[in-house]
Amino acid sequence: MAYKITDECISCGTCVEECPVNAISEGDDKYVIDANLCTDCGACAEVCPTEAIVPGN
Ligand code: SF4
Ligand code: SF4
Repeated sequence: MAYKITDECISCGTCVEECPVNAISEGDDKYVIDANLCTDCGACAEVCPTEAIVPGN
């Protein structure tokens, strides 16, 4: 399981620096999480101002 970024993302970039495995990058219209790298730590979700990062399923 990996976290994912919803359409609530405002592309502020804050989450990128929080990820210990560099799984977050800027996508076409919002930031994206590489599910193959994400370790499910939740650090990014805690700093997102719009609560756009949610646990995947
Ligand atoms: Fe998007 Fe939230 Fe990351 Fe900012 S912190 S880039 S709003 S997912
Ligand atoms: Fe990175 Fe942790 Fe967020 Fe996954 S949950 S993208 S490992 S900060």
